Amino acid sequence: MTTSKRIYLCLAHMGGREMDFIREAFDTNWVVPLGPNVNGFEEDLKRFCGDESKEVVALSAGTAAVHLALLACGVGPGDEVMVQSFTFCASSHPVTYLGATPVFVDSEADSWNMDPELLDRAIADRIEKTGRKPKAIVPVYLYGMPARIDEIVAVGEKYGIPVIEDAAEGFGSRFDGRVCGTFGRYGVLSFNGNKMITTSGGGALICPGPEAKNEIMFYATQARESYPYYQHERIGYNYRMSNICAGIGRGQMLVLEDHIAHHRHVQALYRELLSDVDGVTLHENPSPHYDSNFWLCTVTLSPTLKVKGHDKAYATAVSGAVGGAAGVTHAAADTHTDCEPNANVEAMRVFLDAAGIESRPLWKPMHRQPVYASNPAYVNGVSESLFKVGLCLPSGPMVSDDDVRYIVDSIKAAIDAD
Ligand SMILES: *Cc1c(COP(=O)(O)O)cnc(C)c1O
Repeated sequence: MTTSKRIYLCLAHMGGREMDFIREAFDTNWVVPLGPNVNGFEEDLKRFCGDESKEVVALSAGTAAVHLALLACGVGPGDEVMVQSFTFCASSHPVTYLGATPVFVDSEADSWNMDPELLDRAIADRIEKTGRKPKAIVPVYLYGMPARIDEIVAVGEKYGIPVIEDAAEGFGSRFDGRVCGTFGRYGVLSFNGNKMITTSGGGALICPGPEAKNEIMFYATQARESYPYYQHERIGYNYRMSNICAGIGRGQMLVLEDHIAHHRHVQALYRELLSDVDGVTLHENPSPHYDSNFWLCTVTLSPTLKVKGHDKAYATAVSGAVGGAAGVTHAAADTHTDCEPNANVEAMRVFLDAAGIESRPLWKPMHRQPVYASNPAYVNGVSESLFKVGLCLPSGPMVSDDDVRYIVDSIKAAIDAD
């Protein structure tokens, strides 16, 4: 079985109206980080949140949104922030930008997101050990799956600590019918090229009201005081979204519901086609409370499976970032680290790659990342064991039904029958 094209994890898909909004910006000379598209995009996002009390600020990246939310929660040098360990680095890195320390909290096995009971115990332990309360709690909607956010918010209320939801991967997901990103004090969205919708690069922060929005805008535009000249009494950032990017965003908002529907359709097709494949388990909504956008469809491989080439897994070093990911990577010192996916998962990734299919291991937990080796971590083994057996599969609008059939056939072909 061969295919000439490559199937990627999650490619951007343009709806068709994006250029109209961009052309309008050029025609009216709004080629700056403010203007009608920025305002219009923020209004579209606010409407989507379905909560009149919320306001939204469009920013240059989801990472910038995490950073400013932490700042607005008063995080500063010497503080601690409780962060879900099973996440992409952009949930925790901005904590360090502020001179504070991420304290990692492991996941529960159902949603793969922050374990509320472990969070409760971890906070109590931090208070006992340091004599101070952590400044914020950052749960994540990993691969789009809602967290037990009602319980996490309740823990936050118990201790008087604000919750910042990292909904970068969970745009359009719902918990108990409510849009993810609207439960906490702040909600983070990302419009990077691989997310549910894109502005090429960008993000947004869902804020608790107009006053909070104003404060976020102040810090996103270099913290300028009202004088005829530049007067600075605080350190600010250049984090506003450009009116061009926001034009892409307005066009994308017209196809958001189609995108979400397609991600769910792809998940349903994987469900159907993988149902008779022993040892391959699709990650699903744990109960009717959860309504994932299935940004990325993920599977876990039973350790008893034998994937072709598992005995040769990790024989060759990966050069550059895995798959189509952008950016510069340092050459790996070794093909192994002390915490890596098992040989089955790596063999499956290599087999699919040779078949023209991009897949990727689940995100490596932050508490196992060398850069966070000395950070406090409250672990139960869930995220680390998932990391060792899990794989993300191609998802989203650019993945056709035929692609899913081909991917599942390839997974079957990779499994040794005997
Ligand atoms: C993508 C992502 C971010 C950051 O978004 P950018 O727009 O890429 O800066 C933050 N958190 C998580 C969990 C993400 O997946």
